[in-house]
Amino acid sequence: MNAPTVSAQLDVPFYQPVGSECELFEAAWRQQLPVLIKGPTGCGKTRFVAHMAARLGLPLITVSCHDDLTAADLVGRHLIGDGATYWSDGPLTRAVREGGICYLDEVVEARKDTTVVLHPLTDDRRILPIERTGEVLEASPDFMLVVSYNPGYQHVLKTLKPSTRQRFVAMSFDFPQPEVEHAVVVRESGIDAGRAKQLVTLAGQLRRLTGYDLDESVSTRLLVYAAKLMAAGMAPLTACRTALAEPLTDDADTLAALLAVIDTQFAA
Ligand code: ADP
Repeated sequence: MNAPTVSAQLDVPFYQPVGSECELFEAAWRQQLPVLIKGPTGCGKTRFVAHMAARLGLPLITVSCHDDLTAADLVGRHLIGDGATYWSDGPLTRAVREGGICYLDEVVEARKDTTVVLHPLTDDRRILPIERTGEVLEASPDFMLVVSYNPGYQHVLKTLKPSTRQRFVAMSFDFPQPEVEHAVVVRESGIDAGRAKQLVTLAGQLRRLTGYDLDESVSTRLLVYAAKLMAAGMAPLTACRTALAEPLTDDADTLAALLAVIDTQFAA
């Protein structure tokens, strides 16, 4: 096995670690292990992968999976141009051939046939058989597969089969502890520490709200949005209503409950 090489890049996107996830990811990469990241929307999964790719000096190819995404979308297809047919690599094939991280965001959304191409890449064979060209690609030593999904809102049919899950090392993400989330909000929005503290406290209160029709709670992403609106001069109450209540629900009672919590924190 050829060990991958590290060449750090200067332009690394900001990521505030929550625990030892950066060291874990790097260890997985050194050992050529595929990584599965689980966690709610907006908790930092994508930023983490972008940060690690830059830190390790690897190209990053991100695919946002959706329910029409097929194996051919990942692997590639024959195209017609100038009267001739030619093969065009898909994003997965490009990463396998040239090296780098292929990040499949919300992988459970993709069509079932995609697992067929992922399996031989996620065991020690590290190969990608391309049925349509007859090629069997051996993955570059620098290739790494990273997939993510949100276990919270997928219904039973949209989950990874155990035979697929067991091919990955898995990391669970969640909204960060208040100190970490505070650091993220300040750094991402530029608002002052006091306002950021109020926002993080509010997020805690909103996340504890139970008994309402909420699929998901306030994410770190939405908290950063609220902070950015405030940094742009919006009144805190307006910023929070727009970023922390309206995006979460269309249900009038649930909205009223969220707004009541926001009012208590920011009305003064
Ligand atoms: P996900 O991929 O989990 O849906 P993202 O990675 O897109 O979420 O995170 C959404 C936003 O939240 C980021 O753009 C960033 O502003 C912020 N964020 C969340 N967690 C962190 C963190 N630990 N460090 C830096 N930024 C973070």
